[in-house]
Amino acid sequence: LADLLSVKDARERLLSHFQPVKPTRVPLEVCLGRVLSEDITSDIDIPPFPNSEMDGFAVRAADIYVARADVPVILRVIGDIPAGAVPDLSIQYGQAARIMTGAHIPEGADAVVPVESTDISDRSSDSPLPGEVKIYQSFPQGKYVRRRGQDIHTGQVVLQKGRRIRAQDAGLLAMLGIAHAPVYSVPRLALFSTGDELVEPDKPLEPGKIRDANTYALGALASKYGSHSISLGIVPDNYAAVQERLDRAVAQKADLIISSAGVSVGAHDYVRAVVEKAGRLEFWRVDMRPGKPIAFGYYRDVPVIGLPGNPVSAFVGFEVFVAPILARLAGLNELERRIVSVTLEEPIESDGRESYLRAIVTANNGQWTARLTGHQGSGNLYSLVQANALLIIPSGVKSLPANSVVNAWLLTYE
Ligand code: AMP
Ligand code: MG
Repeated sequence: LADLLSVKDARERLLSHFQPVKPTRVPLEVCLGRVLSEDITSDIDIPPFPNSEMDGFAVRAADIYVARADVPVILRVIGDIPAGAVPDLSIQYGQAARIMTGAHIPEGADAVVPVESTDISDRSSDSPLPGEVKIYQSFPQGKYVRRRGQDIHTGQVVLQKGRRIRAQDAGLLAMLGIAHAPVYSVPRLALFSTGDELVEPDKPLEPGKIRDANTYALGALASKYGSHSISLGIVPDNYAAVQERLDRAVAQKADLIISSAGVSVGAHDYVRAVVEKAGRLEFWRVDMRPGKPIAFGYYRDVPVIGLPGNPVSAFVGFEVFVAPILARLAGLNELERRIVSVTLEEPIESDGRESYLRAIVTANNGQWTARLTGHQGSGNLYSLVQANALLIIPSGVKSLPANSVVNAWLLTYE
């Protein structure tokens, strides 16, 4: 065990090589899901002016203090304030102005009486302006007035750098006059699968061949984690082919190259030979299952991670090591992973390495329980397809009785 690197140490070593990619700006229409590259500070108050929360009448609260349904207060209506206009009137004692939702509160007024609490039934702005209005209810100062800066004040930091932009954030950026959001570029991940046994999904299966799953599963994970995946496809087991593909990844300005298979030290290990010639490559044995062997290095200054070939090992290796790197490249403050505490429905055996086991987790009244899916061999992709979570069995634990509590990563769509 001595030469095994803990998962945490391996992850930290890897992460220390990565920084967020370059910032850019994108139109708000396409900013959803992008990561802010700057803190956003408001340079205005929102609302920018006091405005009405209701269609009704702007009044002086003191004037209507005694208003009741059976003893209405009658006010003289001196004007009309539609939305978008600046009122050129001032409300004096005994006066009111008709006002629309979102319209500027006039001088002198400090409350709005909704039409429902008056004798005016026609609320449309183009109906004739009444000479007077009967107020049937008393409202305190400030009622139905959205004061200036009620939501946001000038100088307030409203969105933090490193946050993924959500729909409501796009709306706020627009309100602040930021038509182009400052965001990080989308990290570029080049992917290839190695192995003479591999064929494309649209090819017939010749004897001895299997279809390449990793290019697609890992490419999809890259998208899920907000990266652009550059698929370089299948690379046969020969030196020239591997080199050509790595050069293509560099030409495509990849921020990271991921290869799968060929990292277990074997005779047909061309990735190693090619990378070592143009850069460097280290092989690590990580205290985890599945996915113990991983490789890390640089090919012509572009970082390269070699994941194991078995589809489950490659997937778990990606979730454990590559996802946090993509989060860092993307500029995210933290990796958005959904982790829940689950109670085991059945006992679990492990081999003492930190294990990522495929499981089905179910929530019952907020309590999560878990059972494993089928055969846990690292070549069995179907057990991962059936799973909706990975259970994490800590290093050093060889068995856990039913009802033990462990952490699980939910394998969500996004
Ligand atoms: P290797 O890491 O090259 O020893 O491969 C380990 C196992 O994973 C072998 O059974 C390979 O056939 C299989 N394998 C490697 N790459 C892929 C891939 N892209 N898709 C599906 N299976 C793969
Ligand atoms: Mg192979």
